[in-house]
Amino acid sequence: MARVTDPKCRQCRREGVKLFLKGERCLTEKCAVERRSYPPGQHGRGRIKQSEYLLQLREKQKARRYYGVLEKQFRNYYAKASRRQGITGEELLRLLELRLDNVVYRLGFAASRAQARQLVRHGHFHVNGRRVNIPSYQVRTDDIVSLRPGAAGEVAVRNATDLTASVANWLQADHDNLTGKVVRMPDREEIDTPVQEQLIVELYSK
Ligand code: SF4
Repeated sequence: MARVTDPKCRQCRREGVKLFLKGERCLTEKCAVERRSYPPGQHGRGRIKQSEYLLQLREKQKARRYYGVLEKQFRNYYAKASRRQGITGEELLRLLELRLDNVVYRLGFAASRAQARQLVRHGHFHVNGRRVNIPSYQVRTDDIVSLRPGAAGEVAVRNATDLTASVANWLQADHDNLTGKVVRMPDREEIDTPVQEQLIVELYSK
């Protein structure tokens, strides 16, 4: 199975923003973006020739890395979004937000999307009472996401809830009982992903 092997902090430094890929460390002064705010590599501090294509490419890579999605899968999300009614860029972000691993992270049940992905993969979560171990599973309005009773990941999940300051308005979380609900679909203003989705649409529509 293909997977992303680039070091996480290097990915953030390449995009020039905090992508919050490492959980608790991202909230400390050890964050590599804060300590070395220039691109990685020998020529990281060199002059980079800007172009329209480069801007679009970087925006797409940033979104892909933020959600931990590979290129082929990301393209599939774009194809699906472009077939939907509504603004393609917003539909793309909505599809990514509704992935089960992202929802687990947004509910505060994991310290990072990578951890959420692993917890889901290992079958620690139920959706509407049924075990779902597919990180890309698309949740819907009124779906209930809960930790499987007796799941070995409970300590990790409770530790993650301690790091969570707030939960998105379109979700409802009960951190005592480790359950959450999708109240409604997220609006664009409620998605705090630091990307300009229009640039991604421009890149793919060439
Ligand atoms: Fe990115 Fe977190 Fe590493 Fe900072 S600590 S560079 S936010 S992965």
